Amino acid sequence: MQRRNTKQRKIVLDSIQKHMGHFTADEIYLRIHTEDPHISRATVYRNLQFLADEQQIRRVKMPNSSDMYERNLDDHDHMVCRICGAVMDVGPIHSRVDQKVEKISGFSDIQHTFLFSGICPACQKKLKKQKKQ
Ligand SMILES: [Zn+2]
Ligand SMILES: [Zn+2]
Repeated sequence: MQRRNTKQRKIVLDSIQKHMGHFTADEIYLRIHTEDPHISRATVYRNLQFLADEQQIRRVKMPNSSDMYERNLDDHDHMVCRICGAVMDVGPIHSRVDQKVEKISGFSDIQHTFLFSGICPACQKKLKKQKKQ
């Protein structure tokens, strides 16, 4: 059983490391499922939780949709398009903000989530086209 768990975890981890970008648990599950139909949705979800808790992958909290997962562990923040929902990395813009907040608040082990929103270049193009018509 232990070996099987490890193998499945590696499949989930590999799937994330193969692709740059941000993906929901469902997208990751569907991708794995086409290659390995034996892995259940629950297994993929459970392993994503585990890998994120162990900080082998990064979980990105989205306010109005499912959490996303990515392989980029570097310090950075996120920009989401308000029209198509595309997610991009930005920054790090607020580097060392955690240390500043630690000093001010007296809290330790500070974490933060910044989420910027805007309209992505592809949607800007579409909007311009629509206006011309
Ligand atoms: Zn967009
Ligand atoms: Zn990211």
